[in-house]
Amino acid sequence: MSEGSPHDLLTGGSADLQSLRAVLGDCHRCPLGDTRTTVVFGVGDPGARLMFIGEAPGRNEDLQGEPFVGAAGKLLDELLASIGLDRSEVYIANVLKCRPPGNRDPLPDEIDTCTPFLNEQVRLIAPDVIATLGNFATRHVLRTERPISALRGRLFHVDGRRIVPIFHPAAALYDQNKRAVLADDFRRLRAVLDAAADDPEDVATGQPSLF
Ligand code: SF4
Repeated sequence: MSEGSPHDLLTGGSADLQSLRAVLGDCHRCPLGDTRTTVVFGVGDPGARLMFIGEAPGRNEDLQGEPFVGAAGKLLDELLASIGLDRSEVYIANVLKCRPPGNRDPLPDEIDTCTPFLNEQVRLIAPDVIATLGNFATRHVLRTERPISALRGRLFHVDGRRIVPIFHPAAALYDQNKRAVLADDFRRLRAVLDAAADDPEDVATGQPSLF
């Protein structure tokens, strides 16, 4: 059976995450399908108010089929706990659903082919707040070439969604300064979530549509 164009999904064809996962299937729409072990679709609450978007699965994620496992995942869990959240209450996905060989950067064609599935996840989950983790996810979502160091700590709006760029937990594993910054970013994330709950309509519009 041939694989449908992921761009068809932008018409909003999937009723829920389960059916979207079924459409994705054993995906070989880009060359990463030939080198990965497992498609890492995403994990968490399908009705989450907070969604994290990272770059791509790493070695552990590729083997286990879940985003953010291993040391970076443990740090993410600790940071979530510090703001009163559990992993099961948020949703975690990546720009790419398959591991690039050797953890190299995703290629433009891979992003173009894979991200309609991410966009559809965002549409179905409809989170109040999206936290982009690290340079790559942040640049993709905000469509900018600026580094995460210049963007973190700020709140952006894309297509009616609040976007909060933060450092990638992996970058803070062995850097105490970055870890302190990340802890600050999570406190800010909590504040943005709380503000969104208090005033759900307070979202600036007029930014280019991504999702
Ligand atoms: S990266 Fe995305 S488009 Fe490429 S094979 Fe994996 S799931 Fe399919």
